Amino acid sequence: MYSVVWFRQDLRIQDNLALYHACQQLKKDDKLVLLFQVNPDQFLSDSLNHQAFFESVRHFKASLDGKAHLQIQYGEPKHLFTQLKEALPDWDKIYFNQDTSGYGAKRDKEMIAFFAQHQIAHFSFQDRYLHGADDIRTQKNEVYKVFTPYYNQWKERLKATPLTIDFQTDQVLTDKLFPDDEQQFSELTKHDEGRGPVGEQAAIWQLKQFLSYDVTNYDAARDIPSLDQTSHLSQFLRTGELSIRTLWQALQELPTSQGRLTFEKELCWRDFYHMIYTHAPHQKTQPLRPEFSFIKWENDKEKFQLWQTGQTGFPIVDAAMRQLNQTGWMHNRLRMITASFLTKDLLIDWRWGEWYFQKQLIDYDPASNIGGWQWAASTGTDAVPYFRIFNPTTQSEKFDPDGLFIKTYVPELANLPIKFMHQPEKMTSIDQAMYGVILDKDYPSPMVDHKARRKLAISTYEDSKAYY
Ligand code: FAD
Repeated sequence: MYSVVWFRQDLRIQDNLALYHACQQLKKDDKLVLLFQVNPDQFLSDSLNHQAFFESVRHFKASLDGKAHLQIQYGEPKHLFTQLKEALPDWDKIYFNQDTSGYGAKRDKEMIAFFAQHQIAHFSFQDRYLHGADDIRTQKNEVYKVFTPYYNQWKERLKATPLTIDFQTDQVLTDKLFPDDEQQFSELTKHDEGRGPVGEQAAIWQLKQFLSYDVTNYDAARDIPSLDQTSHLSQFLRTGELSIRTLWQALQELPTSQGRLTFEKELCWRDFYHMIYTHAPHQKTQPLRPEFSFIKWENDKEKFQLWQTGQTGFPIVDAAMRQLNQTGWMHNRLRMITASFLTKDLLIDWRWGEWYFQKQLIDYDPASNIGGWQWAASTGTDAVPYFRIFNPTTQSEKFDPDGLFIKTYVPELANLPIKFMHQPEKMTSIDQAMYGVILDKDYPSPMVDHKARRKLAISTYEDSKAYY
């Protein structure tokens, strides 16, 4: 008989719940079939996010091939599983790690019905989060809507420990059931150059790096983009190349420090946003706070393009957007600044920003991205009211005090003294000539007047509330 392990955002062998259970239950003469499916309709070839993901799939396959074999199928899941059943009439079990929100949740539901119809036993697991979407509830058994009480329970709960898997490659079916479609694969990964190491080993290496140098200081350093002292583990958590249990266990082996506690709290945000998105899937398109459903967004396409390309005239915003465009990753503080700028200063719908981040981020995670965008737009779970509007200049002075981050991504400003680095528009024409940066030629003037736009944003939000 055949047991299929259906990989998705869990591209690793160790501490993988679905694989663990499949190996445990495998009988002597049974074979494991390792499977990954690509539904091309779901992916854009010009998206850094998708290219990065497929680079990881490619790496995962390469790491298995030779000893075992990852079967890859292209197409729509129902059709593919029908094909698989035809190829393997003796297939009777399937194991996978659950998707509980978005497209994945819908697909899983449909496929579970399909498996039942075909007498295939399915076993699915919550592998992706420290606590699943239903684990932590209020005393009235309701879903939490704000972070702090959720966190207070979350931190007291026991977390699962990592599993060691006795993975015998000789139990894996190595016959190629489907041809390796290199052309399809190249299409999906063709623009992904120089992203840095990927794969399960790279994830563990990155984890060790972070744990050995940065954790104790994390709470102090995490807000300064130029220090670059956050973990950069998000891309590995997103592909599942790193298991969340392995990460948690490694943290527990460190001495307690404020840095460690703050880092753990960030992992709680990940669970929290996943829980919120699972229980309120409409938040992909609708504000969590209905009173903000009537905001009259300006949605100016030219302004949106200036924001996307890092040409707003606000150096910290531009540096951040260029970091995103060049690397597929953006520092958390900068995600907050750029999202606040788009929604409040430019009055552009947060859904536009969410879409652009989705396209660009190599760590794209729908729940965290939507949660982060709704937080920044004050339409989501942020407990602070909508009139908290980031001032891009004071944020820049506070979190990039020496302008080191700006210099890296906006090199045209690198020679400016620090007082102009945050506000190049303050230069007189003599300053401009002296430092070799002519405004609107070498670098744009600010595209909006922050003070005026702040006022407008507040009244626009108030109008929505009044209408509601
Ligand atoms: P670290 O600071 O090292 O944090 C460790 C881990 O904790 C991260 O890898 C991540 O898994 C989790 N984490 C940290 N902060 C948050 C947070 N605020 N919300 C949820 N989880 C968090 N994170 C994503 O993983 N994918 C996204 O698509 C995403 N979009 C965002 C959009 C906006 C507008 C905002 C404000 C935040 C977004 N975040 C997203 C959260 C956060 O910015 C990233 O997780 C973090 O920058 C990743 O870098 P790191 O791994 O070095 O983080």
